[in-house]
Amino acid sequence: MAIVVQKYGGTSVGDVERMKRVADRVQRSHKAGNQTVVVVSAMGGTTDDLVGMASAISSSPPQRELDMLLTSGERISMALLAMALAERGVEAKSFTGSQAGIITDEVHGKARIVDMTPARLQECLDEGNVAIVAGFQGVSRKTKDITTLGRGGSDTTAVALAAALGADVCEIYTDVDGVFTADPRIVGDARKLDSVSYEEMLELSAQGAGVLQVRSVEFGRNHGVRIHVRSSFSYRTGTWVGPQEDKVEDAIISGVAHDTSEAKLTVQHVPDKVGVASQLFAKLADANVNVDMIVQNVSQEGATDISCTVPRGEVDKATAVLEPLAKQIGAGDVIVDSDIGKVALVGAGMKTHPGVAAKMFSALSDAGVNIQMISTSTIRVSVVVDAAQVEDAVRAVHDAFDLGEEHEEQGAG
Ligand code: ADP
Ligand code: ASP
Ligand code: MG
Repeated sequence: MAIVVQKYGGTSVGDVERMKRVADRVQRSHKAGNQTVVVVSAMGGTTDDLVGMASAISSSPPQRELDMLLTSGERISMALLAMALAERGVEAKSFTGSQAGIITDEVHGKARIVDMTPARLQECLDEGNVAIVAGFQGVSRKTKDITTLGRGGSDTTAVALAAALGADVCEIYTDVDGVFTADPRIVGDARKLDSVSYEEMLELSAQGAGVLQVRSVEFGRNHGVRIHVRSSFSYRTGTWVGPQEDKVEDAIISGVAHDTSEAKLTVQHVPDKVGVASQLFAKLADANVNVDMIVQNVSQEGATDISCTVPRGEVDKATAVLEPLAKQIGAGDVIVDSDIGKVALVGAGMKTHPGVAAKMFSALSDAGVNIQMISTSTIRVSVVVDAAQVEDAVRAVHDAFDLGEEHEEQGAG
């Protein structure tokens, strides 16, 4: 008997009618003889509404209580889905993350899973029932408090459960047909990929392709979980995320990702001395700030600027530790620029193809986009640009590499 984990995102369970349609799909999987585990997100917009209410009450709500509040969205979904299945004669039980054995560290708002003990789910499946799990949440072994896994964290709940239960597949049901060569909301002719490797998907997600939370891809890669990203509104095949060997396409470039959720921090006139960068970034790490791109120039007259990008929500935390440290080490001011965005080109083939970065930069220059920062990995080139130019930049790069859907020649034949 196959074990299938299905995850339904916020739009897919967005209202009662959609919830009923999800119940039909789950029933279909159950009837086909699969042991079915369903992970649900909060109904579309719910998490944002809850965040809004919390910030209307407090500018810095206690993190423990914020997690308590946010996890309620997923609990609404799980109970409603269990009722919809009961209505169809399918026995289903819902479980919170804690009941499902999702054990995390104690970092509220972006907890990491440290252990999985899904004995209750296994029992539920063995009894022939469907198990429904509230996504995006766990419980800290240390504090016993409820935690959340970061925005988009239901993907990670699903992949982690698939790994722990040895599932045959983890299906991520969403509001687009799969993983595209760029966000289909921005690039009209973006093309759906049939398959993408874990490595490429990791880069795409880390660079802002929100269709899969980056930690879910990490989990998938580390445990060899086959992930199928597909639409909950059709039965079409979506995109398979798996090992490089599974890739059916051999394109040089997989896609373009973008991210407008970060800000740029610059520490000016940092003394060019051994250990200074290590001090700056150790402080940021201690404060639990997620640093992304880092750029340091060659020093002039014994000092240099160091810039990095961090999530906008973490800017205050970052400046609070950097400002006193900058003074202490004899550096200049800490400058914040929130009007930036990141655009990244990803593809395993670029390892062996020279000239990819040059072609990307020339496409950006033709589109009149100024590049503020550059960073690369073996399979990625990322740039930071003005926030207002991000969408133009994505389209320009996507076009330059001919990533779009092939259009039929007009008047051909
Ligand atoms: P869900 O609520 O189902 O988790 P998300 O909003 O988190 O859905 O993720 C799906 C969205 O991700 C799509 O609607 C799309 O706008 C966005 N997205 C960004 N980049 C990509 C990409 N490369 N391929 C597909 N979708 C993408
Ligand atoms: N509901 C959470 C969010 O909106 C988690 C998720 O949907 O994956 O981020
Ligand atoms: Mg999501």
